[in-house]
Amino acid sequence: MFEGKKLLVTGASSGIGAHLALHFAGLGARVAVAARRATALEAMAEKQPNLAPITLDVGDPDSVRTGVAAAVEALGGLDGLINNAGIGLTGRASDVTEADWSAVIDVNLSGVFRVAQAAARAMGQRGGTIVNMASILGFGVQPGVAAYAAAKAGVVHLTRALALEWARQGIRVNAIAPGYFPTDMNRDYLESPDGQAYLKAIPMRRFGRLEDLEGPMELLLSPKGAYITGITLPVDGGHLCRAL
Ligand code: NDP
Repeated sequence: MFEGKKLLVTGASSGIGAHLALHFAGLGARVAVAARRATALEAMAEKQPNLAPITLDVGDPDSVRTGVAAAVEALGGLDGLINNAGIGLTGRASDVTEADWSAVIDVNLSGVFRVAQAAARAMGQRGGTIVNMASILGFGVQPGVAAYAAAKAGVVHLTRALALEWARQGIRVNAIAPGYFPTDMNRDYLESPDGQAYLKAIPMRRFGRLEDLEGPMELLLSPKGAYITGITLPVDGGHLCRAL
C-alpha cells in the first residue's frame, strides 16, 4: 500500500519521526526526512536508501518553503506528510519566559501550520494526506505544561480547520495524539520516580512503544482511511479515559 508513495516526515532526526520514517521506508515508500540536524538525517539515509535527507527548521518560514520544495523535488511529488517536528517545555506557568512561550508556540503550532500549508500547495488538486502530531496534552492538562498543552490543543483545532478547507481538493488532514512515549524529549523524566508515577494513570499500565504508532499512522495516511478527515486519534493506552 505504501510502495512508491512519496512521504515527507518532519522531526525525523530522532524519536517518533525517525521511527515512522524508517517504518514507511521499509514498506517501500520514498521518504524525505526533515529536521535541523543534517548529520543525523544523513546517517539515517546512508543506511536506508529510500530516505532523502532535507535540512529544515519549522520555525523559519523561508526554511520551510525551501525545505518542502527540496523534498518535493527529491521525491518527484508529494503524497503524504507526517507533520511531527516539536519541542518540549516544562515549568510552572508563573515562571515561563516570553522567549520560551514564543518558541513553543512557534515550533509546535505555527511550525505545523507552515509545513502543512507548503505541503498542501505542493499537493495542489491531486490531493494527499497530512497527519499532524498533537498530544493527549491537547485534550487534558497537568501542571507544568501550559505552553506545550496550549500549542497541542491548537494543533487539534487547526487539524479540523485545515480538513474543512482542503477536503474539496482531496487532501485529508488528521492528527495523532500520542500518550507518553519515552524519547529524547522526555525519557529522563519518564524514568524518574515522578514519571513512573504516571504509569498508574494509564489503564494499560505501560508507556507507548514507537511501534504502537505504526498502525494508526498507516490508517490515516492510506486509502484505508479514505473517509476520515479532521479527527485527532489518541494513541495512549487509555490514558485519556482514566478514572477520576
Ligand atoms: P524528539 O525530541 O525525539 O524529536 C523531536 C524532533 O523534532 C527531532 O527530530 C527534532 O530534530 C525535531 N525538531 C525540533 N524542533 C525543530 C525545528 N524547529 N525544525 C525542525 N525540526 C525540529 O521527540 P519525540 O519524537 O517524542 O517528538 C516528536 C513529536 O511527537 C513532537 O511533536 C512531540 O510534541 C510529539 N509528542 C511526543 C510525545 C512523547 O511522549 N514522546 C507525546 C505526545 C506528542 P532537530 O533537533 O534535528 O531539528
